[in-house]
Amino acid sequence: MSVFFGVDYYPEHWARDRWETDAKLMQEMGLNIVRMGEFSWAKFEPGEGEFHFEWLDEAIALLAGHGIKTLIGTPTAAPPAWIIEKDPDILPVDSQGQQKGFGGRHHDCQSNVKYREHIRRLVTAMAEHYKDNENVVGWQIDNELGNSHEDLCMCDSCRHAFQQWLKKKYGSIENLNKEWGTVFWSQDYDKFSQIPAPKVTPTMHNPSLLLDWKRFCSDLVVDFQKLQVDIIKSICPHQPVTHNLMGLYDKTDYFDLASDLDFASNDQYPTGYYFTPPGQPSYEISACLDFIRSVKKKNFWMMELESGPTGGAFIGRMPRPGQLRLWTLHCIAHGSDTIVYFRWRTCLFGTEQFWHGILPHNGVPGRRYQELKDTVAEMVPVLKDIQGIVPKAEAAILFSYDQNNAIKIQPHHPELDYIEQVKKYYDSFYERNIPLDFISETEDFQDYKLVIAPLQFLMDAALEDKLMEYVKKGGRLVLTMRTGVKNRNNVCMGDMPLPGRLGGMLGIKIEDYDCPLGLTVKLEWTGTGIKDPGQEGVADKWCDIVTLGDAKPLAFYRSEYYKDTPAVTVNSYGAGKAYYVATEPDKHILGQLAELLREEAGLESLGESPKDVELTLRKGRARDYLFAINHTDCGQEVRIDRMWKRLDGCRENAFVVGGYGVNIYTRQSDAGQ
Ligand SMILES: [Zn+2]
Repeated sequence: MSVFFGVDYYPEHWARDRWETDAKLMQEMGLNIVRMGEFSWAKFEPGEGEFHFEWLDEAIALLAGHGIKTLIGTPTAAPPAWIIEKDPDILPVDSQGQQKGFGGRHHDCQSNVKYREHIRRLVTAMAEHYKDNENVVGWQIDNELGNSHEDLCMCDSCRHAFQQWLKKKYGSIENLNKEWGTVFWSQDYDKFSQIPAPKVTPTMHNPSLLLDWKRFCSDLVVDFQKLQVDIIKSICPHQPVTHNLMGLYDKTDYFDLASDLDFASNDQYPTGYYFTPPGQPSYEISACLDFIRSVKKKNFWMMELESGPTGGAFIGRMPRPGQLRLWTLHCIAHGSDTIVYFRWRTCLFGTEQFWHGILPHNGVPGRRYQELKDTVAEMVPVLKDIQGIVPKAEAAILFSYDQNNAIKIQPHHPELDYIEQVKKYYDSFYERNIPLDFISETEDFQDYKLVIAPLQFLMDAALEDKLMEYVKKGGRLVLTMRTGVKNRNNVCMGDMPLPGRLGGMLGIKIEDYDCPLGLTVKLEWTGTGIKDPGQEGVADKWCDIVTLGDAKPLAFYRSEYYKDTPAVTVNSYGAGKAYYVATEPDKHILGQLAELLREEAGLESLGESPKDVELTLRKGRARDYLFAINHTDCGQEVRIDRMWKRLDGCRENAFVVGGYGVNIYTRQSDAGQ
């Protein structure tokens, strides 16, 4: 099995006589794969049906001479000017009804039939041309699907496709009217052709229409990708197909999108200038990496890993010495088996001329090149041992794009955000070095000792049954505020007190609630079985007012008219336990809950470490590897069982990890014993 380290390379941006130097420098750095071609439609096809692959053939052959393989990106994220001139209705229309212009990228409507014809012609020609090229190891479809599509496309073609999608789902217009409650504000439809795309209106749209629109848009992107997957699979069945996802980005359902791929890939820019300085918090990056591994329960590629400051109009921070190695090892620790850095040399022109690569504008290797060269040499032997062995957690977070979309449509509190709440729960386990997977509703919960399911706003009988069955058989389940409020069509349920049928399992009833706008509601943790009971904290964004049935309280509100009523509860049900968190507690109370859950579910922690220093395990064939990753800029001590030995043999200060450092500890693997 080869271990791949590589870069995103754009030979078309550079003079032909530079290519040889680039290839040599890549080879000397230990790189053996490039991704090429993903924005080069105008070079591949300067006029309809006039194909020019010779420049890429030459680059592939030259790189192969230096032991470097190629993964080809299909360039459909940037349709050229001649296509837009010929078929201008390919340009997308925003929610104001305004058609967007040519320029930038993804100036395309993904339902447009003519656009799809152009894609079919180009991708078929590319697949035919490269099917027997032994230096081509696979394909990436398009680029970051869903990105650059902020309010998606609301053109006539998309509206028509939406109507067809609704017809398939609801069967008859009468049924749609009933399910959406269109009697409200005289929105009854006589026929599907009357239903709009959710363009700007004088007031809010029907929430049921908005949720179906989000689902439709996600399905459209999945279908758009599948067009290309099917072409490549039919012509080059031996070459794997992937797509570069973006962590917890939420425009498209990644479980669905990844289901058509051989493996998932991810793009990560930890200092991305769009994050609050100094960049993305470490727990959030870890959550993104665990999520990408989880969408296929399979190790993944990093297709774009930051290798220099990011930038457009503004420029992010320069990666500090050690950070490029840290990011590389961080990705590997969470299940990435291949690292491709973005990009080789910083481009002189175009939108991304300050989105820096490994080499600076002048092409002379410097500090970043040297650091990555050393990192590649260090990690190749480790990857040979661990490649393909998938990290598996004992606990999981249930992740749902449906819940995210429904909460986004009606967040209740202006700051309530589904993904932020997921990240808070993730962080409370991350801080304790307890690994987590993410699961979708369709997966088997029984594989996990603990399932955390935040904000299960939309509910149906099948999910209720699945959750109850899981607990009955011995699982530990955490449900939170606003569970069971609506049915799947985004309509409130009115036949039982909240949280509906799940109230029996949870041993509670919710007859009242409060959106505490502008209030700080006090909380007190009183739960037993933890080190330090009696902790105080605050509740935020929402307060369900709980009436206890059989459940036992673990925390109480200590202010407002619901003072001294329970805020966190637990109930035994069958062989398991069901927890209810009636608010969004602060970090302190969530930490108390995580401690209790660790004990109750018998979860293994990988050890204790200071804040922003994480311990992450990868199992190998010969050895296991424990990565102690210090995301801070100063040295930190970790507590690690002495059966683990430093991989580099260092005995002095064996348990001190330098600023932006990663120590790797090993022991013989279970398999090797
Ligand atoms: Zn459209």
